[in-house]
Amino acid sequence: MSQVRSICVYCGSSDRGPAAHRAAARHLGRLMAESGIQLVFGGGRVGLMGTIADSAMQAGGRVVGIIPEHLVRAEVGHADVSELIVVANMHTRKEIMFTRADGFVVLPGGPGTLDELFEILTWRQLGLHDKPVVIVNLDGYWDTLIALIESMIETDYARPSFRDFYTVVGRVEDVIPALRAATEPRVAAQTARL
Ligand code: AMP
Repeated sequence: MSQVRSICVYCGSSDRGPAAHRAAARHLGRLMAESGIQLVFGGGRVGLMGTIADSAMQAGGRVVGIIPEHLVRAEVGHADVSELIVVANMHTRKEIMFTRADGFVVLPGGPGTLDELFEILTWRQLGLHDKPVVIVNLDGYWDTLIALIESMIETDYARPSFRDFYTVVGRVEDVIPALRAATEPRVAAQTARL
């Protein structure tokens, strides 16, 4: 993609993961800000999502958080970002995160992160968008996920072309180059069908 302006990062809402993951989230937030790339995220202060948002803000970046009203307390709605959008429900959050981004990055996380990753991949599989998805496999965190996808392909529950819907990188330094190297989307996002 010649122009990467705005990237949505999906990541964990837990603060209890490895310190190396928090350091990576900080690093990615800074790299995005320094590259003039807007961060779109889930809008909370907790976990890696709070870490990456703080880091991008401190480095002078633009940060947009989208949070459902019912999670403002649980995920500590982040008031110190460029724009905080409070929405009625999870679906609206995901839709706005999708429409505001040119591409998606997945850092380590839990069930919510996986839900977001598979939604974006299956929307791509259905031809509803063609925006790039980069999975950051820090210290092999996502090895078992990648193995599961390979097993689905092996068993014919997923097509081999499913591999084309994401790129795996091992380091945050490789995220922005991977997004820039991605093919320009060939289809317009079909937001009305999400
Ligand atoms: P987690 O990876 O479980 O820490 O969640 C990361 C983020 O995903 C949190 O902000 C959750 O609110 C969000 N999330 C999105 N969709 C879901 C879902 N269907 N179930 C749980 N969390 C979700």
